[in-house]
Amino acid sequence: MKISQAVHDFVQLAIKMETFALMDRVYLENRVLALIGEDSMQKISQTSSKDSLEILDILVDTARKNKKFETITQQEIFEAQLMDLLTPVPSQVNQTFHELAKEDSKQATNYFHNLGKQTNYIQTRAVKKNIHYLHETKYGEIEITINLSKPEKDPREIAKAKLIKENDYPICQLCMENEGYLGRMNHPDRSNHRIIRLNLNNEQWGFQYSPYAYFNEHSIILNTKHIPMKIDERTFRNLFAFVEQFPHYTVGSNADLPIVGGSILTHDHYQSGNHEFPMAKATIRKVIHLSDFPQIHAGILNWPMSVLRLQSEKKEDLVKASLFVLSKWKNYSDERVQIVAKTNDGIEHHTITPIVRRRNHLYEIDLVLRDNNVSDEHPDGIFHPHKEVQHIKQENIGLIEVMGLAILPPRLKTELREVENYLLENENTISPIHLSWAQEIKEKNEITSQNVRSIVEKNVGEKFLQVLSHAGVFKDTNEGHLSFERFIYFLNEANIK
Ligand SMILES: [Zn+2]
Repeated sequence: MKISQAVHDFVQLAIKMETFALMDRVYLENRVLALIGEDSMQKISQTSSKDSLEILDILVDTARKNKKFETITQQEIFEAQLMDLLTPVPSQVNQTFHELAKEDSKQATNYFHNLGKQTNYIQTRAVKKNIHYLHETKYGEIEITINLSKPEKDPREIAKAKLIKENDYPICQLCMENEGYLGRMNHPDRSNHRIIRLNLNNEQWGFQYSPYAYFNEHSIILNTKHIPMKIDERTFRNLFAFVEQFPHYTVGSNADLPIVGGSILTHDHYQSGNHEFPMAKATIRKVIHLSDFPQIHAGILNWPMSVLRLQSEKKEDLVKASLFVLSKWKNYSDERVQIVAKTNDGIEHHTITPIVRRRNHLYEIDLVLRDNNVSDEHPDGIFHPHKEVQHIKQENIGLIEVMGLAILPPRLKTELREVENYLLENENTISPIHLSWAQEIKEKNEITSQNVRSIVEKNVGEKFLQVLSHAGVFKDTNEGHLSFERFIYFLNEANIK
């Protein structure tokens, strides 16, 4: 009875969502029965008030009993296949989205975001597992997240994954070919995945939400071709075109060089969302004047990384000014502060992480100056988290972290509990990588079982602030401010002569 009720509820929901019509009821009930491994259906007179995820749980339990899957990966593939039956086909989702967008793009993103949550494509329950808190700094509050949302794979599955044959379809996780893809041991399940087709400057792009959102309405805008990341005029134009269509979203691109870029450099994409990042709230430390662009408001941001903020009513002015700053930065060296645009091997080291948003009637772009050079002292990157902070964060500082939202690795959840035990002088297995940091915390604080968690969180926050300052090319010191001003002088030099 319980199973038939869940099948009935699932089908009623699919009809209510207009994924299927009333006439499809019997057909769809039979499709669901087949998937979960049941062979009969009782008559159900009433629809229950369960939501889609509660219904999913009952159906998944049944399928498990019927041995429809065994491993975690197989279960994920199964769940996506089931929820695919609840999700309208791509053409239908696109039609609804674009009809709503004609009225108000916020309604369109609300529709698409809610659809993702309802069909379990956006893994809201997994995202809730993340640890998240705010940390007060002299730049304002920053956000710290320990990412626990991605399910940990069974080690036996990981071992098996190494043995399976090479398969480059889809080429990567951002390719259009993921839409509806079943998934396999080393590629995520995407049966219930839908991509919105967007027009940005007369090119077609894909728009999708991130299944494991790092912030509200975390979304990805992807090139419909599998081509590498590239920061150029087209990037700036596309980012502005995006916020013109979606003024309630912030959008940015990861840099296009290793060390300072994100984890995927091989597929051109941007990231967006409906979230006010700590960097958006940062103030201007110094107003500057760009002599080639007198109509633009410009300033150096009060932020641990090196950021120029440009504002104008006209996006075209900002595209040109951004391109100007990028081309100047690509040729700028200041060896007093270890900034080298090109090394003797002919390799370029400079690029920008751009972030675009609307601010009332203005367009605004933050240009974060990046340098991926290495040295003997800092073989992982001169402007990358240094050795002394790598016990907390050693991964690249990408777009999201640049904006003041730390995404820290899952290992920290257990490691930091052991740091707490060490601080409380309980029995512990503190990792040697955290030991000297923990000793320092112990010396500086009166630690009790009541305050230990908040003291550790505060110190993690301070470490992340250090991480950001390592990634900054001009430091927030007197010397750093002077070197930043030399760069501004360089921007205006042609006009001074
Ligand atoms: Zn790709």
